[in-house]
This record gives sequence, C-alpha cells and structure tokens, in this order.
Amino acid sequence: MQGTKSTLMQDLYFKKTSEVKSSVSEVECYICGKGLQDGYRITAKTLSNGMALFCNVHYSLQ
Ligand SMILES: [Zn+2]
Repeated sequence: MQGTKSTLMQDLYFKKTSEVKSSVSEVECYICGKGLQDGYRITAKTLSNGMALFCNVHYSLQ
C-alpha cells in the first residue's frame, strides 16, 4: 500500500509599495498666490495657454 503525500508549498511574497501621497502643497492661486493654507478655495481652470489654479476671488474675475 502506497500513500501519496502531496505537499503544496506556497511562498507568498508581499511586496510593499511605498504609498505615494498626492501633494497638495503646490495648490495656490495663479494670481495672488493664496492657497488652501490661507483659507482660500482653489479651483483649477483651463486657459488658452494651459491650466491654472485660481482662488475663489480671482476665479470669478477670469
Ligand atoms: Zn487669487
């Protein structure tokens, strides 16, 4: 009588990937330079020469 013994060995490798945090420190108004840290609401707006960020004050003026 022959017993068959199968052993399944699984080596699991966990690859840790460094979490990339989205940088929001560069978010500031294109005109006055105010940012979220100043209490301004920054909104991106597409212009003819590209995209720029404006605060809630200058966004309505554009
Ligand atoms: Zn502004």
